[in-house]
Amino acid sequence: MHELSIVLSIVDAAEEQARKHEAKAVERIDLEIGNLAGVDEHALEFAWQVGVKNTMLEKANIEIHKVKGWAQCADCESEFEVKDLFDPCPICGEHLIKIMQGREMKIQSITLLN
Ligand SMILES: [Zn+2]
Repeated sequence: MHELSIVLSIVDAAEEQARKHEAKAVERIDLEIGNLAGVDEHALEFAWQVGVKNTMLEKANIEIHKVKGWAQCADCESEFEVKDLFDPCPICGEHLIKIMQGREMKIQSITLLN
């Protein structure tokens, strides 16, 4: 499952931070997930419960910040919100669009418990 591997890499990164700062546990983790990142939020929450077992993140609160998909048309250069990677330009109908944001999937911040 794609989402579980995401969770495990988050756990790895957060535990590394926790060890570096000699923290007891991770209290909270803020994630930034683009609407175009291809991450299913429900699957992620389910994978989270499985992936954090017996880790320093077991009791951590997870906060997800969604990032809007935003693109620019390669033809008329207008910028617009996209909900899908294959959305055409709403102005001229061109399918060649450049994704500006919305594909990110990253840790925004980690709150440690000392
Ligand atoms: Zn256009």
